[in-house]
Amino acid sequence: MAEARFIAPGVVEAGGHRIEAGAFIVATGSHPVVPKALDAIASHILTTDSLFELAELPQTLGILGLGAIGLELGLALSRLGVQVVAADQRGVIGGIQDPEIQKRAFSRFVEEFPMWLGTSVDIGLESGKVSMRAGERQAFVDRLLVVTGRQPNTEALDLAAAGIPLDGSGRPVIDTVTMRASDAPVFFAGDVQPDRPLMHEAADEGQMAAQAALACLRGQAWQAPARSVPISILFTDPDVCAVGLQHDAATQQGAVVGIAEGSGNGRSKVLGAPENLLRVYAARDTGLVLGASMLLTKGEHLAHQLAWAIHAKQTVSDLLAMPFYHPSIEEMLQSALKSAAQQLRT
Ligand SMILES: Cc1cc2nc3c(=O)[nH]c(=O)nc-3n(C[C@H](O)[C@H](O)[C@H](O)COP(=O)(O)OP(=O)(O)OC[C@H]3O[C@@H](n4cnc5c(N)ncnc54)[C@H](O)[C@@H]3O)c2cc1C
Repeated sequence: MAEARFIAPGVVEAGGHRIEAGAFIVATGSHPVVPKALDAIASHILTTDSLFELAELPQTLGILGLGAIGLELGLALSRLGVQVVAADQRGVIGGIQDPEIQKRAFSRFVEEFPMWLGTSVDIGLESGKVSMRAGERQAFVDRLLVVTGRQPNTEALDLAAAGIPLDGSGRPVIDTVTMRASDAPVFFAGDVQPDRPLMHEAADEGQMAAQAALACLRGQAWQAPARSVPISILFTDPDVCAVGLQHDAATQQGAVVGIAEGSGNGRSKVLGAPENLLRVYAARDTGLVLGASMLLTKGEHLAHQLAWAIHAKQTVSDLLAMPFYHPSIEEMLQSALKSAAQQLRT
């Protein structure tokens, strides 16, 4: 248990120990950032570092930031009985790019707690409560959970001492392919290099960094492997998932969008989830499945199946040749594929 920092190129100091090595891997993760403007109410602020240490939940909670983490935690806490009100300066929730999934997710989740979108919020302290104001709207809450973003943990490392150049904000500019910030034999993996801040991506990057470091020590060239098909899963019940190519890139390529509605799926109706929605993007010329976005009961499973299909370069007709059991959520995929196939034929 020691904080490590570079003291010279190739030399790290940690807990009174000096470590000399031909190469280093930095995997120090990231930390939540709280805007300076909230310093005055610091004692009322929670982050994802402190939230899980609470002995008791607050009765009322404001949430600043409705990205993936803000949305997941807002729903979880509201379902645990906390009165939640959340705000985001952007007009979208959960970072959902597909506009139809965004609309559907918003109308499903706003039933559970108020979400003030596309507005900046004035925050203060009044009679021991945090006040939140945006235009006509106002709320008073016990605590404010700030989930507005994260920053790589590089400050304490003194990377300059390792011979790594830093930008104007004192951070290294890391190449996401070579995993390096300079010619120094220092490799960055995981959230410290924040392009894919997810657990499985961090693990992949750890392996890549190890291979790159070994190749560097042996004086060999290193070729970065292809990255895995992107998956994003918000555990919001129904899940919000995105796989492969995202909506904007897919539609720019002229992809067809196969659509399946929960209202037309037996299992969704049985589960009382007619709002389920699956949109699959397929290449117009080849029929290759490119990506998908969904608001779906247990969508995490379908998201994996679709990611594996994209990885295997399967087409709409390849997938339609697979068995689909009735009545299942998977039949939503069958319907979306049929809808895509119809558009591909025309
Ligand atoms: C609330 C929340 C929910 C999440 N949910 C999901 C999810 O559902 N699925 C998913 O895939 N991902 C999720 N993530 C993201 C996931 O946790 C990260 O992508 C993953 O932990 C990154 O791993 P890492 O090893 O890069 O960093 P970390 O897990 O942050 O580990 C970094 C380690 O380095 C140590 N360290 C930092 N600085 C120093 C130093 N100077 N010296 C020594 N040690 C140091 C830290 O103490 C820490 O132990 C979530 C993240 C948050 C915050």
